[in-house]
Amino acid sequence: MVSAPSGAGKTSLCRELIDSFPDLRQSISFATRPIRKGERDGIDYHFIDTEVFQAMVEQKQLAEWAEVHGNLYGTSLETLTDAAEGGVDILLDIDCQGAAQIKENYQRGVFVFILPPDYSELEKRLYARGTDSDEVIQRRLENAQFEIPQASWYDYLVVNDDFQSAKERLCSIVSAERCRSHRTGQLLENFTVKGDK
Ligand code: 5GP
Repeated sequence: MVSAPSGAGKTSLCRELIDSFPDLRQSISFATRPIRKGERDGIDYHFIDTEVFQAMVEQKQLAEWAEVHGNLYGTSLETLTDAAEGGVDILLDIDCQGAAQIKENYQRGVFVFILPPDYSELEKRLYARGTDSDEVIQRRLENAQFEIPQASWYDYLVVNDDFQSAKERLCSIVSAERCRSHRTGQLLENFTVKGDK
């Protein structure tokens, strides 16, 4: 699970993570926000309208969902179930409300929060991105003040001060987590001496 305030560089870092670990699969969220220039339905998000989203909530088809910056976003339960059954690691790029729901319901998640170096750098990056109106940027900056304190309950914090170095730290987290004994315990079976129980 990767969360960050808008503009911290999370989307680009997640893309790099997927490129570095071809067996890691990115979850494609459902979202009610308008599609941005350059985005593709079914690849960046499944873009749906609010009524369809609410029906999914009622039918319990979402593993988590939240209202973020005035729009609804959610992760399909089927995506998580399929990944668990197939033994596939899945990357969720979701906000902290959604991450908190996943933490409560799924014990095996790893939670990473990407931080900008400071607020002024965050503001600079949001304006430089040029994808949102001033009003939307101001709302995202206000939200950042509520989101950043949430970082305290995440497993890992990565400051995106230098992109390459942040990418390396993020990749190290995935590599280290994959070596944890509770995930690799079956390796020891290769060392069972014949006749041992
Ligand atoms: P954006 O509209 O800029 O793509 O994303 C806005 C925020 O929504 C980001 O913080 C992103 O992590 C979050 N988000 C995207 N998909 C989901 C989701 O499925 N669930 C939740 N809770 N947040 C999401």
